[in-house]
Amino acid sequence: MKNFARIFVCCSIAVVLAPAADPPAILGFSPDAATSERAWEAKFKSVPSAERLREYMQRLSARPHHVGSPYDKDNAEWILTKFKDWGLNAQIENFDVLFPTPRERAVEMVEPTRFVAKLEEAPVTVDPTSNQQSEQLPIYNAYSVDGDVTAPLVYVNYGVPEDYEELERLGVPVKGAIVIARYGASWRGIKPKVAAEHGAVGCIIYSDPREDGYFQGEVFPLGAWRPRDGAQRGIVMDMPIYPGDPLTPGIGATEGAKRLPISEAKTITKIPVLPVSYGDAQPLLAALKGAVAPSNWRGALPITYHIGPGPAKVHLKVKSNWDTKRLYNVIARIPGQTEPDVWIVRGNHHDAWVNGAEDPVSAANAEMEEARGLAELIKQGWQPKRTIIYCVWDGEEEGLLGSTEWAEAHADELRQHAAVYVNSDGNGRGVLQMSGSHSLEKFINGVAKDIEDPEKDYPAWKRLRLSRISNAASEDRDEIRKRSDLRLAALGSGSDYTAFLDHLGVASLDLGYGGEDGGGIYHSIYDDFYWYTHFADTDFRYGRALAETIGLVVMRLADAELLPYDFTDFTDTIHKYVDQLEKLWKTKSDEIKERNTEIEEGVYVAIADPKQTLIPPKFESVPPFLNFAPLRNGLEKLQRSAEHYDKAVQHVSMGAKPLVAVNRKLTQAERALTLPDGLPGRPWFKHQIYAPGAYTGYGVKTIPGVREAIEQKDWKQADEQIVRAGKVLENEAAVIEDIAAELER
Ligand SMILES: [Zn+2]
Repeated sequence: MKNFARIFVCCSIAVVLAPAADPPAILGFSPDAATSERAWEAKFKSVPSAERLREYMQRLSARPHHVGSPYDKDNAEWILTKFKDWGLNAQIENFDVLFPTPRERAVEMVEPTRFVAKLEEAPVTVDPTSNQQSEQLPIYNAYSVDGDVTAPLVYVNYGVPEDYEELERLGVPVKGAIVIARYGASWRGIKPKVAAEHGAVGCIIYSDPREDGYFQGEVFPLGAWRPRDGAQRGIVMDMPIYPGDPLTPGIGATEGAKRLPISEAKTITKIPVLPVSYGDAQPLLAALKGAVAPSNWRGALPITYHIGPGPAKVHLKVKSNWDTKRLYNVIARIPGQTEPDVWIVRGNHHDAWVNGAEDPVSAANAEMEEARGLAELIKQGWQPKRTIIYCVWDGEEEGLLGSTEWAEAHADELRQHAAVYVNSDGNGRGVLQMSGSHSLEKFINGVAKDIEDPEKDYPAWKRLRLSRISNAASEDRDEIRKRSDLRLAALGSGSDYTAFLDHLGVASLDLGYGGEDGGGIYHSIYDDFYWYTHFADTDFRYGRALAETIGLVVMRLADAELLPYDFTDFTDTIHKYVDQLEKLWKTKSDEIKERNTEIEEGVYVAIADPKQTLIPPKFESVPPFLNFAPLRNGLEKLQRSAEHYDKAVQHVSMGAKPLVAVNRKLTQAERALTLPDGLPGRPWFKHQIYAPGAYTGYGVKTIPGVREAIEQKDWKQADEQIVRAGKVLENEAAVIEDIAAELER
């Protein structure tokens, strides 16, 4: 469900590796093993075919295939048959989950004039699958509570917490209103959550043409961008509390599982929500009066944006069928030869909101070609050391359902055996986008150096590095030029790695290419084969590149003599995060002091236009000093253990002795970053370094316990969380020490 309009993550770095004459070493392999690995990799790379990627996409996106639809099941069975035909041991694993679909939807303006929103996307003549109305899910936001409300309308910009602070200063009440927010700036589920916290009774979310419509480019079918009636479906459950089936938090939604009554499911919204197109939003917004919206709140509609409240009064109605639907996860297992108890798990979802050519088939097809490639190698005698599990998930769009329920159902085994989870969720032309656990940063840099970029005829790694230099802030460029590894972005949420990383503490990677194909078809009926083959990776060369990239990732993780984790880049990253946290506290503190001074000086009274409402901000107490010593102490220990591990790796003669015990211990290194009672207020999220933000939804918060406490100015909690996070770093250091000692044994 990840929105592919990705942002370049600008980062930094430090050692330009000396150009090597021989093929460079592979992390975790002895020279002999690396030679044999490269031979197998060359064979693998010859397998993925653009023609097949195209065929799979045409087949999988031929009809709408959301959870519970006939074609969703049909696709799963088709993928299963393919896996079996290729000789893989595969099966379907089912779960039964709550999935509401709409029964009644209405958005209508009742004052000052009457207008009824269409809530429908029109078929397009040239696009043959856009007219499959009988199978398409209507435009709606799943897991919105049922409701029927009529109230004055207020425009709230993106509907994030800062927008409500602005509304308060503008003297605009939200209590009792229906808010209209534009998509963007946060994950959509945050918008109704924050609106309800401010007393709103309903929420409408619309796609402004500034974000993904005509402001960006030609609209579909002339171009890739969102047409007038195009709307974004999507779930609005409170995923930062827990993803997956709302009725079975923490356990697999199996047949006999104990389920909560719907009324007790914490993740269903508090107020009704519906998404609309800009065609439907424009008359509502045009009927608002009150203050003119601040300049950075204005979209690209040909109207003056007002905030309200009213005089527009809106009737919003949502009623769903609260049914249980069956999930079909396709799971294939390739048993490991010498370390079968260490698992490499690979996943991408197969379900879509509608036809879903880009999301998810543009990467699910690559996953299938990887599986076919590995199956080919097995026929030629390849034997992976470790067990490889290929998962094609169902129900990702509806709340990461398939992956979360599977991960929860197999939690004990996964905690014991899973070394790495590798995810993808959509692909396009452009640069490699890599996010994940920083213990895998060095490893993934190595893989990216061995993949050719299809458009540039040099490694994907080089293209990424140059594009980062081009996009970086001036102070970061130097680091990119000097650091040997490109930084890995941290993972928030929004795709199937969430349960593995955040809940179970399995080191994870999320990979895809993108950046060159824009588009505004996300979660609409226009995300289909016609759109993809006209406006995206039309010759499937980047689909091939993705299959090659992740194929190599999986092979190396499964074949390495020493699992290719690295703790130096990890420690360097943690160091950066701790610096950021201290700076964040300082910035907050300085802001509050400055604002208090300006209030005293009368600045806010002086700048206010007496003909308009602008309420001065309130005095705030200055934050206490925080004691960051526990984090610094933990970091110090981490640093020493990472150095010790590096030294031990350099001295071990790889290939001379099997490293089974070391590898088993290495799988536990990421697990040490979790705490069983999780994050404050959300125990499902156990990882203490990475989590989606409680008020960003997808966007990551690193060292989240501390960072969010500072952001929310909860100083007592910040102090407590610093102690906990410091302890986690010490735990991690102890695990790494132990592994280093095992290596030296
Ligand atoms: Zn997706």
